[in-house]
Amino acid sequence: MRQTDIAQDLRPLKPALWRGWTRTCPNCGSGPLLKSYLKLHSSCTVCKQDFTAARADDGPAYVTILLVGHIMAPLMHFMFVKFRPDPLVLFTILAVTSVGLSLYLLPRLKGMIVGFQWSRQMFGFADSPDAEAPRAEVDLPPAA
Ligand SMILES: [Zn+2]
Repeated sequence: MRQTDIAQDLRPLKPALWRGWTRTCPNCGSGPLLKSYLKLHSSCTVCKQDFTAARADDGPAYVTILLVGHIMAPLMHFMFVKFRPDPLVLFTILAVTSVGLSLYLLPRLKGMIVGFQWSRQMFGFADSPDAEAPRAEVDLPPAA
């Protein structure tokens, strides 16, 4: 295990992703991550983790489109082949489902991307105060 692996283990990925999915702070899991539908708080109200380093950009929208497309395309094929509904009925069902699923997934995927960035100490997240916390001492074998 390299020294950088030890540093990354201080911020485990799976809890950070889950906290992002629940739209809470990836550091403490208590404070809210988003102050409106997609706007991030500047810092956590509980643990003061700084969120200004987050750079989600187009990532959440891209992943949302990817997931919704991969869910809706087979569903559209299945509904058309199996039931042959009236085109207007098919369009209405698929449009409402697509929009609803996108609106549900977008803030959760944004939280997951911010949680991923926090966990991997991307951008400015490495400079946050907890990054300076003492690391676990590990006895590394002497270099051969
Ligand atoms: Zn927090």
